[in-house]
Amino acid sequence: MKYIVVGGGPSGMATAISLSKNHEVILIERNESLGKKLLMTGNGRCNILNNKNNQELIKHIHHGKFLYSALDEVNVSYLINFFEQSNVLLKEEDNGRMFPVSNKSKDILGALTSHLNGVKIHLNTQVTDLIIEDNTIKGVMTSQGEMLADGVVMATGGLSYPMSGSDGVGHSILNNHKISITDCYPVETSLISHEAFIQDKILQGLTLNNIILNLKNNKNKLIYQTNGNLLFTHYGVSGPAVLKASEHVYHLLKKQPKVSLHCQLINNETRESLFEKMKNYPHRVDKFLMDYLPKRMIVYLLDELKLKDLPVLSHKEIKKLIEHLFNFKIEIMDVMDIKKATVTGGGVSLKEVNPYNFESKRYRNLYMVGELLDCHGEIGGYNLTLSLVSGFVCGRRVSLL
Ligand SMILES: Cc1cc2nc3c(=O)[nH]c(=O)nc-3n(C[C@H](O)[C@H](O)[C@H](O)COP(=O)(O)OP(=O)(O)OC[C@H]3O[C@@H](n4cnc5c(N)ncnc54)[C@H](O)[C@@H]3O)c2cc1C
Repeated sequence: MKYIVVGGGPSGMATAISLSKNHEVILIERNESLGKKLLMTGNGRCNILNNKNNQELIKHIHHGKFLYSALDEVNVSYLINFFEQSNVLLKEEDNGRMFPVSNKSKDILGALTSHLNGVKIHLNTQVTDLIIEDNTIKGVMTSQGEMLADGVVMATGGLSYPMSGSDGVGHSILNNHKISITDCYPVETSLISHEAFIQDKILQGLTLNNIILNLKNNKNKLIYQTNGNLLFTHYGVSGPAVLKASEHVYHLLKKQPKVSLHCQLINNETRESLFEKMKNYPHRVDKFLMDYLPKRMIVYLLDELKLKDLPVLSHKEIKKLIEHLFNFKIEIMDVMDIKKATVTGGGVSLKEVNPYNFESKRYRNLYMVGELLDCHGEIGGYNLTLSLVSGFVCGRRVSLL
């Protein structure tokens, strides 16, 4: 049988690798090379996997349960083994995040392309439409003309970082054939704030380490909590904690005009323990805070609370300061555009897709894998994990047909 795989990202390459064991495969990529986005991942280091068991993995993936069946066939151990056998050793860092030992994403790309020898690769070729007869896929229309096949796998990615080649063309092609696409939204993106301290760039460039970030709705109900670093930028805030919270901020902003991040700036003390230490501290409070926060943040906070020039604080002033340290609010007006987001939320509705082999429920011999689907993970290697799992499983289970 002859298959066409559209998109030379990790999901398309994984599909082509496993399909080509038993079939003729053509891999079509609009760029001049494969894996352009893959090379950018993890700041060039490529956080390729997250070393968790299936149960844990799906908890970190939106609509993760859709992958239950696929993970039975290809799990993280399978993928670690795949890279080892391709001479790319992986190492594990914090929270299960796995990277190539070399810290080079090009080694991950090299491992994948080393298995594509039997695949015909068409670069600089854009797929513009699907050829469908009697609800069965017959091939694709491309910028180079028509190509016929027994099956087509769409692996065209999401809408983020369009200069990498994934700009949503795949979604439009599928949608033109009545495949439903859910609302697409930015995931892992920075947040925009009009707070005076942001507009005046007072804290720009400053990172607060390991804060606890609470997202509450306007009824003060906790919607999401995470921890990690927060970076003040010229337009708002960024950094891992903010990126993780951003999709929840996006959904909340659909219901209310602005959203407050409630940040606990000190996470290794309780309000009570801090109060005890502060009230007994014999020197100025700014010196005390140096153990916990960067100097710029201390100066800003004491200035804001008009405590800067006081040599000794009263108990009431200490409590006021502690309240601020435990509930520093940042008002958010918007999230960055999807084009600047790391990942796309939403995509091909999972109701359209058979979770066993990723085949379309509407058209025979059409398959859809990777970030194109309405399925995405948190920061930490989950997105590449799901791209590889869906790609390898689709190829393996289609090969069994
Ligand atoms: C800056 C950045 C850093 C990231 N870091 C990480 C990380 O460290 N860990 C992690 O897990 N995830 C990370 N991600 C997310 C991860 O890169 C994606 O989830 C993953 O690449 C999706 O794989 P994919 O194969 O489904 O799609 P893509 O990698 O987007 O590949 C889709 C391919 O299809 C091609 N294409 C699209 N339309 C057509 C068409 N009509 N015809 C022909 N070709 C077409 C595109 O050119 C593209 O090459 C990062 C993303 C970005 C932007």
